[in-house]
Amino acid sequence: MLAVEDLLRDNAFVNGHWVSADSGDRFAVTNPADGAELTTVPDLGPKDVDSAINAAEAAFPAWSARTAAQRATLLRRWHDLVLANEEDLALLMTLEQGKPLKESRGEIRYAASFIAWFAEEAPRVYGDIIPPHMTDKRILALKQPVGVVAAITPWNFPAAMITRKVAPALAAGCTVIIKPSEFTPLTALALARLAEDAGFPAGVLNVITTADAAAAGEVILSSPAVRKVSFTGSTRVGKLLLRGAADTVKRVSLELGGNAPFIVFDDADLEAAVEGAVASKYRNAGQTCVCANRIYVHERVAEEFTVRLTGRTRTLQVGPGVDESSDIGPLINEAAVAKVERLVADARDRGATLRTGGSRHAMGRTYYEPTLLSGIEDGMDIFQEEIFGPVSAITTFRDEDEVIRRANDTRYGLAAYVYTRENARSWRVPEALEYGMVGVNTGMISTAVAPFGGVKESGIGREGSKYGMDEYLETKYVCLGGIE
Ligand code: ADP
Repeated sequence: MLAVEDLLRDNAFVNGHWVSADSGDRFAVTNPADGAELTTVPDLGPKDVDSAINAAEAAFPAWSARTAAQRATLLRRWHDLVLANEEDLALLMTLEQGKPLKESRGEIRYAASFIAWFAEEAPRVYGDIIPPHMTDKRILALKQPVGVVAAITPWNFPAAMITRKVAPALAAGCTVIIKPSEFTPLTALALARLAEDAGFPAGVLNVITTADAAAAGEVILSSPAVRKVSFTGSTRVGKLLLRGAADTVKRVSLELGGNAPFIVFDDADLEAAVEGAVASKYRNAGQTCVCANRIYVHERVAEEFTVRLTGRTRTLQVGPGVDESSDIGPLINEAAVAKVERLVADARDRGATLRTGGSRHAMGRTYYEPTLLSGIEDGMDIFQEEIFGPVSAITTFRDEDEVIRRANDTRYGLAAYVYTRENARSWRVPEALEYGMVGVNTGMISTAVAPFGGVKESGIGREGSKYGMDEYLETKYVCLGGIE
């Protein structure tokens, strides 16, 4: 199946060894397209997780003592190996996650770009020499790695959410324990195999697979050795981790759920807005935290926009991710389909108009039709919750202040999108939106060079860019006295 069979790993990676669970327990990884079992991986228990933490702790002194250039060299090797194995990694990802191959390939390149970026940032971690407050003193601010980092990652981006955390952590001199989603451990293990090939020392990068995330989370949170938890996933679990981190006062980075508004003003380039909505809404079958969730269109252009987006929605090919022609693959599991069904039913019961789709897809039990609903009202569940499926939900607005107020009226604050051709508005509206990221006249904002993250209940911290490194660094103040 794979060009390099060795990339399909069925053991966890701890302290430089491919290990099974102490209990011998394993769990199945399945293909969301057809439910077929791909393989099984170890179901690590608390004792195994503890070993991984010990390995990372033991590896930390030597790893952090290396020069930044030495760490960068290994990161670059890892980056090159990831790109060289793009096709295999993409196939593994599509098999366990479901997204179309073309999107998986794009994600592998995106994932690699974080490794390249942070390899370059590693030697640029500068401290400061601060003018002292007394003549016999000198003041230094040193940047040092925080220590052992746990990266807990979701299934929707099985590679990029790992490299976005792990590359800056390793660049900074931290050692890591990666806990991938139980739905998508194979991409994580393949990345670890390539890191092993790149030559990272034992214990620097560990991957623990487990079907009991809560138990593993417990061990991670209660360990004083783990100094930082970086999490991407649901707001519910993010809050649990934030609470749990309190006892040992760990640092946390949280990238949580969103409820992205997508605002189309009447001066917008409508064709561009439709394409932006398609890109933002339907990528990964709607299963990203920055997907357009609430589409607000000015009432003067609402019908035209709705007709055009409906037309585009109908052109999307639904099918297994391994088919090159598929635009939309299966959702991650049946529970995800049931949630989308519930949101669509609630909207329709409360008066929304179905323009296209609206049902499970004939392809199989995990597929849902690309769907468009208009006439949505703010109180409907579909505007209150993250849809996480291929469903566009449209409402109308009359003026700028009104739409800003409605867009901000949520506990989330991750991504927002604005389409306008008016110069002043393209400054004013992003400034007024309470979001961590705003796309103006674009539906695609993710890149390794920009700071990704949310405000309010969408998270804490930023990933990617020069700011992404700060999450893995402490500032140590040294005061040199007696300098006569
Ligand atoms: P999603 O809705 O994207 O599946 P989750 O928040 O459920 O998001 O999962 C994201 C990651 O968090 C996964 O790796 C999952 O296994 C892990 N996870 C889920 N519950 C816990 C928990 N109680 N403690 C630690 N990690 C958890």
